[in-house]
Amino acid sequence: MQTWQSHPVPRVAGTPRPLRLFDTAAGEIRPTAPGPTATMYVCGITPYDATHLGHAATYLAFDLVHRQWLDNGHDVHYVQNVTDIDDPLLERAARDQDDWVVLGMRETALFREDMTALRVLPPREYVGAVESIPEIVEAVAKLLAGGAAYRVDDPEFPDVYFDHDATGRFGSESNYDEPTMNRYFAERGGDPDRPGKRHPLDALLWRAARPGEPSWDSELGPGRPGWHVECSVIALNHLGMALDVQGGGSDLIFPHHEYSAAHAEALTGQHPFARHYTHAAMIALDGEKMSKSRGNLVFVSRLRADKVDPMAIRLGLLSGHYRTDRSWDQGVLDAGLARVARWRAAVNAAAGADAEPLIARLRDHLADDLDTPRAIAAVDAWAEQTLAGNGRDEAAPAAVRAALDALLGVAL
Ligand code: ZN
Repeated sequence: MQTWQSHPVPRVAGTPRPLRLFDTAAGEIRPTAPGPTATMYVCGITPYDATHLGHAATYLAFDLVHRQWLDNGHDVHYVQNVTDIDDPLLERAARDQDDWVVLGMRETALFREDMTALRVLPPREYVGAVESIPEIVEAVAKLLAGGAAYRVDDPEFPDVYFDHDATGRFGSESNYDEPTMNRYFAERGGDPDRPGKRHPLDALLWRAARPGEPSWDSELGPGRPGWHVECSVIALNHLGMALDVQGGGSDLIFPHHEYSAAHAEALTGQHPFARHYTHAAMIALDGEKMSKSRGNLVFVSRLRADKVDPMAIRLGLLSGHYRTDRSWDQGVLDAGLARVARWRAAVNAAAGADAEPLIARLRDHLADDLDTPRAIAAVDAWAEQTLAGNGRDEAAPAAVRAALDALLGVAL
């Protein structure tokens, strides 16, 4: 699938800092330790609706991971998927009497535009579920042959399920207890009550064709893939095991990332699937959870249509820490707009306060689990000094402009 437009990332003078990042599985901040090529897989959208600010915040967090690795001289192999076949897409298409393929293509195109506007560096490979079906079928057949998967006893719809504890490591990603797992499994697309399953927490790998639903012929019989195995297979086939970072929103901690890891580990007999599981927190609107059922989603494309500077959206979202649930409101946007204006004036000044200590602080804060609030405060202080005429370094404004672009993704 076609990825989106990239842009050059300036080189920044001085000494980069190795990135430390919170790992959900370990429950602590740990160094990322990529080789010459750093590998990252971030779960992509199910394209049934436009990108809202919660999605944007997630992709911005991992864009900062990407940027800190680039600063450290790594080649970054970043892969993202598009879940271009799944229940939510079919449900929305049916509701709106739309064609699910057209809906998916339209929303994916809009997502690319949103990401480009927000200056999110594109993944090297942007991979659809549909185009990956042959690989997914092969993986599910392998899990069946190895005894990690089974067919439900249902002659009409012989779906294939994953034995959730096939590896004996189930729970090692989320560390949730069983009641928490049961609750999230039921709330987030699982089917604990499906008759014929051996255990309520067993997850769907291959859904046998239903009347009126799209399906693909395969050695498993006609059907379509489950969601978790889609990500396992795309990540494994494009990046291999022991990814440096598996990323997504915090609502993917369980079940999605627990099962993606379990499937991959059952397929390869290796552990771990990812060396870091990193999750971005949720964005609320005016203090209320943003969700499609409440109808209070704020779409990036809507803000763009209202001529809001995408850099103000970016700075507004980054003004809170990526692991803190936070609220979006007019005040956050206004602060973002004002900050962009101040920073822009400062990097356009004839001279500024010393750039070197600011760039060192920016790197320190971002390397410390992407501490954007402190990074932004450091830039605010520099801009204040510069706009007050306290700086005499004529090279500073350009150096800061380049650093903000490279490290924070804020182009002024
Ligand atoms: Zn995923």
